[in-house]
Amino acid sequence: MKNLLIISVIFLIFYSASSKQYGKFLVINDAHLDKNYKEGGTVQCDSPCACCCDDMPPSNYTGQTAGKWGSSKCNTPFRLFEQVIPVVQQQQIDFVVFLGDAPSMAFWEVTYEDSISYVKYVAQQLAKLVDIPVVPVIGNHDYSPSDFFTCDGSMDNYYKTMADIYKQWLPSDIASFHHCGWYSNSIIPGLRFLIMNTMICDPADILILHESEEMTEQCKWLDSEIQKAKDNGEKVYLFGHVPIGQSTQRIYPPLCWTNSSLKIAQLMEKYPDTIVSMFSGHTHFSEFRVVYDTKTSKIPVGMNLISPSFVPEASRYSGFRIYDYNTQSFEITNIHQWYSNPYSVGDDQIPVWEKHFDFLSDYKDYGVEKVNPSELDKIAKQITTNEDLFKLYYQRYAPRWNVDSVTEAKKNLIKCSLPVTKNSIYTECLNKLNSEK
Ligand SMILES: [Zn+2]
Repeated sequence: MKNLLIISVIFLIFYSASSKQYGKFLVINDAHLDKNYKEGGTVQCDSPCACCCDDMPPSNYTGQTAGKWGSSKCNTPFRLFEQVIPVVQQQQIDFVVFLGDAPSMAFWEVTYEDSISYVKYVAQQLAKLVDIPVVPVIGNHDYSPSDFFTCDGSMDNYYKTMADIYKQWLPSDIASFHHCGWYSNSIIPGLRFLIMNTMICDPADILILHESEEMTEQCKWLDSEIQKAKDNGEKVYLFGHVPIGQSTQRIYPPLCWTNSSLKIAQLMEKYPDTIVSMFSGHTHFSEFRVVYDTKTSKIPVGMNLISPSFVPEASRYSGFRIYDYNTQSFEITNIHQWYSNPYSVGDDQIPVWEKHFDFLSDYKDYGVEKVNPSELDKIAKQITTNEDLFKLYYQRYAPRWNVDSVTEAKKNLIKCSLPVTKNSIYTECLNKLNSEK
């Protein structure tokens, strides 16, 4: 009788697991924590980036002061990150991805030891999640000096240190992580994670000039891993801190050198039925890129979904994303954006993260029915001429920012950055839109 009961329980567990049609995973990135954050600290200062709040104001100061949970020109207080952990725990997700950037953005104050201790802190917090596997990814601030990545052997000790911090979530074969910060992992049968080091295609990386040999090496590694996944009938998610393609903030340089971006595009073109999506952070905005074929630049072959920052800087909310996926095809079935506004939380209250929007409800009026390259292509095509669609995209891109105050030049940058394609097409798009008004 007892055996029968055990068999029944095992069957029920197996049955419920195998019949689950949809799963969820959560992506959190760009924590940008500040160990010196002071509640009541000076918010208005001359600092070039969001990095005030470390000093108490002088007695004659009449400006804004840093709140308990965060402030608009500041990095993140530790207590805000600690507050999100139980929120993540409650989401019934299958795994969480930390897409990098634990340290403060005040990079000139962050020593190498500091950068390691910030990453350790994030790992300790994520380790509090019960029964939720973590997929760690390195960001450009996770090393000091920041934006100084290579894989010529000179950083092996750093990558080994990172692997040691994250070891409880890494597979046994991590030779590539030890040398270059990239690795392959699978925690769900049928789904392969390829974790990239996209700092080495970022023009901000001081050690990398244009198309690097390291990036060529990474793409060769990706090619062989994706081929293996395809042969095994697996689907692939690509994770990389820095997205590919153009920046919405400037005409030049791009987020990732164009030749390197096109190498990733070629892989998406080569394996359209195996690679589901690339996932990134780094820009601090909620956005996406559509990747086109490298021959005609007209056929959507891939996508890069970009999640907003956890740090609530520049008057934005603190955010994370939850992706819904089909547990058989591993297609992304929806995107849920969660935000918290830590500025208005009283001292005796705690911040609450709430769902701000979901992708399919937002874009259904524009004929978008799924989250895949050909559906995102519909948005990329319509947004250049449809002002209402641009407003909707912008309200999600940077919540709390006023769309009416965006210049036409800035709007055009955002619109023309959506496609990942040749430089000539990007320039043509900007010239055309800029000449219209
Ligand atoms: Zn970054």
